[in-house]
Amino acid sequence: MPRPIHATIHTLSLQHNLARLRAAAADARLWAVVKANAYGHGIERVFEGLRAADGFALLDLDEAARVRQLGWRGPVLLIEGVFEPRDLELCSRLGLWHTIHCDAQIDWLAAHKTQVPHRVFLKMNSGMNRLGFTPQRFRSAWARLNALPQVEEISFMTHFSDADGPRGIAHQVAAFTAATQDLPGECTLGNSAATLCHSQNVLARGDWLREGIALYGSSPDHPEHHASDWNLQPAMTLSTRLIAVQQLQAGDTVGYGSCFTADGPMQIGVAACGYADGYPRHAPTGTPVLVNGIRTRLVGRVSMDMVTVDLTPVLAAGVPVGMGSDVTLWGRAANGTVLPIDDVAEAAGTVGYELMCALAPRVPVVVE
Ligand code: PLP
Repeated sequence: MPRPIHATIHTLSLQHNLARLRAAAADARLWAVVKANAYGHGIERVFEGLRAADGFALLDLDEAARVRQLGWRGPVLLIEGVFEPRDLELCSRLGLWHTIHCDAQIDWLAAHKTQVPHRVFLKMNSGMNRLGFTPQRFRSAWARLNALPQVEEISFMTHFSDADGPRGIAHQVAAFTAATQDLPGECTLGNSAATLCHSQNVLARGDWLREGIALYGSSPDHPEHHASDWNLQPAMTLSTRLIAVQQLQAGDTVGYGSCFTADGPMQIGVAACGYADGYPRHAPTGTPVLVNGIRTRLVGRVSMDMVTVDLTPVLAAGVPVGMGSDVTLWGRAANGTVLPIDDVAEAAGTVGYELMCALAPRVPVVVE
């Protein structure tokens, strides 16, 4: 028998989340962001759930080729552009849109001998200070691109640094709008947080929105809003079973480092999931977990292949529990109870993005 751990990808939840974002996006088109192997879910596994998107945005040529192999003929965007000049050839052959964020990428395009003209998104650094041309340099970059016979279509992009936070997006929207307003081309500005938290900002909507985390059912501004506040459903469940139960007495400790001590008699369960499965090792005692759909907590340190969980609330609820009982690390339990990945991430001092992306290859995945 294999270890009882597995992840489930929920196609209906992906469809639901996409429809939810479409409603918030009004008439803007949606790029489904599937970089990092669809935030750890698997590009092939989310494709059915996200095929109603208007395009797929991703990181590299390998991911783009996989989307084309799935039969997708629509728009595909390399969200950081090409990383080397020789990538331009495959980029043309796969019919990709690609981002231009620096002078070197324009030089590569200018030197590219091709019959197939390129469609590009020129990226502005409107405040994130990661990729893109500053507002001052943006128009000269556009003029260079516009003069190239290799370029057929130029659209415009920027990325918000604080769409989920106190600084907001207004200053970046203003810088982007001022520099692009009389240039011909489509615009893409917002991510999930911009779509949901700033839906009233029509300029931020642009022609395309780039949706990542919310598609996968995580709240872009947790803990300000929970995923359920945004009517988002978890696209991934990570589940396992109890492989042992221990009876503790007052003073007994649990696991490596003995970092949990029972203050009275209690039962704990040992679940087959550890940091080698992608569960965060730094999740402390108290991190939420479901056992047979009842919310309880981790006790003791996460080890490579196991976590230990307090069975007290499960027993108190009168729910039978023992070896083989269902354990939900995040997502939806068999009784319908949801443990948001954001709650686990918050307890572990990280974000839902990191937990999803960290799902280990050894975990079997089923799509339903
Ligand atoms: N656009 C760009 C350029 C990104 O880097 C990302 C993700 O990091 C997204 C859009 C999607 O963001 P989110 O997952 O927060 O919706």
